Order: sequence, then C-alpha cells, then structure tokens
Amino acid sequence: MSKPALGCIADDFTGATDLANNLVRGGMRVVQTIGVPDGPLDEPADAVVVALKSRTIPAAEAVAQSLQALQWLRAQGAQQAYFKYCSTFDSTPAGNIGPVTDALMDALGCDFTIACPAFPDNGRTVFKGYLFVGDELLHESGMRNHPLTPMTDSNLVRVLQAQTKRKVGLIDYRSVARGPAGIAERIAQLREQGVQVAVVDATSNAELLAAGPAWAGMPLVTAGSGIAIGLPQNFGLREGDGAAAARLPAARGLRAIVSGSCSVATNAQVRNFIDAGGEGFAIDPLQLAAGADVIGQALAWAQPRLARGPVLVYATAEPDAVRAAQGRLGVERAGALVELALAGVTRGLVQQGVGQLVVAGGETSGACVQVLGISRLRIGPQIAPGVPWCHARPALAPEGLHLALKSGNFGGPRFFTEAFEQLERA
Ligand code: ADP
Repeated sequence: MSKPALGCIADDFTGATDLANNLVRGGMRVVQTIGVPDGPLDEPADAVVVALKSRTIPAAEAVAQSLQALQWLRAQGAQQAYFKYCSTFDSTPAGNIGPVTDALMDALGCDFTIACPAFPDNGRTVFKGYLFVGDELLHESGMRNHPLTPMTDSNLVRVLQAQTKRKVGLIDYRSVARGPAGIAERIAQLREQGVQVAVVDATSNAELLAAGPAWAGMPLVTAGSGIAIGLPQNFGLREGDGAAAARLPAARGLRAIVSGSCSVATNAQVRNFIDAGGEGFAIDPLQLAAGADVIGQALAWAQPRLARGPVLVYATAEPDAVRAAQGRLGVERAGALVELALAGVTRGLVQQGVGQLVVAGGETSGACVQVLGISRLRIGPQIAPGVPWCHARPALAPEGLHLALKSGNFGGPRFFTEAFEQLERA
C-alpha cells in the first residue's frame, strides 16, 4: 500500500476539499480526514488532507491542533507538509495563519517557507504582494463584509507580518516569471535579508505549474489550493492520472442543499436556485435565538418536497440582514446558532433519505460534517474550481453519501443545479 508523500493540514473543511480537488486533478489519490484520526491510515493514498476547523478559533488552539495533525501526517510517511488556508487569506490580526505557520516551522526545523493564496481558477491572484479577488483588491471585495474574518488590507506582506514573529518578504512576479531558477535566486536574496516567509506573486495556472519544482524538498509550504496543481509532478504523478484518481461509487438517495454562507457568490446561487423554481426554506437567526423549533419546521417542510427534487434550506442573507442579526445577537452567537441549526437540519435530511447533499459555507460544512459523524472522505470529480464531489459512509447513511462542500465564494450562479447534473453524468 502506498504511503502518502504529501501531508496537508487545512484550516477548514471546504478548504480541505478544495485542496484535495486540485491534488486529484494533478493525478494524486487523495483521502481527506475530518480532524486528526485516532489510528493509522488504512487505505492507499498519495496525499492526505487533514481537515481542521481552526480558521477562527483562538490562535493557541489552532496551533495545538495543527501540530497534532503534523505529527500524525509524519507518522503516516508524509515527506512534505502543506498548510492550507483560504484563497482570500481569511484571518484576523491575531491569526491564525501567522501563528500556525510559526509553529509548524518550529516543529519541522524549517527556516524558509512560502505563503501563496493565489487560486487563478477562481480569480484569486497575487501581484506585487497584493491579493485580488476577481478584478477587485481583497479589501474592496465582498470579503470586507465577511461575518467572521473581514479583510480590510490587501497587502499580504503587511497582513502576514502582523501575525508572525518571522520576517516576511515577497517573491515578486519578475522572479516567478523566470520559473524555478528565478525563484531560487530570489529565495537566496530573501534569506540573506533574514526573511523566512515569502509571499509569492502568481496570476495564472501556467505560473503555478511552472513554479512547482521550486517547492520540491521544502519541508513546509503554506498556501491556498492553487499551488497544489504544481506539486504532484514533484512526486512523479501527472495530470493524466486524474480521471482514475477521481472515481467514486454510484450516487443514490434524495437530493438537498444546506447553505449557511453569506458570501456574494452564495447569495447569487440561492437566488438563482429559487428563481429557477427550486424550493427553499429560509432560516432566521432571530427566530433561533427566540427558541423556536426551526429545525423541526424545516424538516417538516422538506419531507413532502424531497421526492420532487432537490430542496434548499438556507440562512444565507445579504450583508445588511447579517449585520442586523449580528447587532442583535453578537457575531459569534449569531454564527453559532445558525451553524447548530443547519447541522441539525442536515442530520434530519440524511435520516429522511438524502444521499446527495450540497453544503455551502466553510464553517457550515464543518458543522454539518461533524454532526454526521464523518471522519473520512474519498475525493472525486470536480464540480466547479475548488469544489469536488466527495463520498463517505457515515453510520447514518451506511450505503454511502455523496457530499459537495462549497466554500462560500466558490461556484457560478447555477452551482447548486450544476452539482446534481454533474453527478448524473458521472
Ligand atoms: P463562508 O464559506 O462564506 O465563509 P461560512 O459558513 O464559513 O461561510 O461562514 C458564514 C458564517 O455566517 C457562519 O458562522 C454562519 O453560521 C453565519 N451566518 C449564516 N447566516 C447568517 C445570518 N443570516 N446572520 C448571521 N450570521 C449568519
């Protein structure tokens, strides 16, 4: 049985599947674990992604969980570690990207690493150290209104420097354009200046593929999912191996969507699904706070509708409504109430026979996967950049459950419909 050569630590669930998706496309067989497993890995894989829910927890806890994941991955044989965060660099000045990077470098005895959230397939590009979301700078994008990690500075060298004890520098586009040789020269310069973490400019998949060999042998890389397309080649795998690596069991069961993301993209997807005649049930955080049995209402609503096609249960709301709820309940309480409710709805839907489930939102996905008791996912074919179908066999669905865990900002307006169409074709 092959041992995983690449060991990845992702700071949320959708981020983990996003990374796994790119590694599968590059030809790696990938298993994603939910949290750090108790025992050894018992199936073949070229890479393992340990999905944590550490993006917005206190930094010390994020560090402890990440170190535990690192230790497990190294015990499975991983030669290189990959710390995966969001392509919009979601973090607060207290972390957790900087503190976790520091701790992993300390544990690995690593004196240089990179930080590269670029994900050109989804419009995340880095130029002169500034992160763009589509055509907008990060701080001008919808991320400025994120419920938990609002991003108000687009200069990643500055953002990261505020979070790490190490000196941060930049491998700029001129060096990246010259490929691994140019990057190696720039790294040597930065090392001389005492830099230990370098933000990497990248605006295209071609650059990320070409840069791949520059990261070979680094004990640790830190990034979004984009640089993953250049890594499988370092382990002797190629893109042509991707179709075999992505095969999943046949889909079964009823169809549902659970959405807790309030991103611009998810708001558009919810609107599109309903405008196209899809049935949706909206969850209101204020009703949850008042103690109403919203889970029971949502499940009773869904029951007769499920046989007719996918149903949508959503807390997704526009920024004004989110701010209003947060103003009344506090940011954390509003988020936690909604996550708990959507997790309860998810469990009920699976008990009602849902076997194909789309979840929108990183934190939301984490809560849903946890409530289903899923500890491991096999990663399958891509629906949209960053979002693959996955397969699991939780106790609640012993015959198997197909899951798509969508990070808030990902997917086009028809994503929910496209996801099920994709499964029909598979
Ligand atoms: P994304 O992937 O878009 O960041 P997440 O699920 O990670 O989505 O985060 C969205 C957060 O917003 C969650 O904590 C969720 O519970 C919370 N939330 C969802 N709907 C509402 C709402 N209507 N009001 C306030 N908070 C909400």
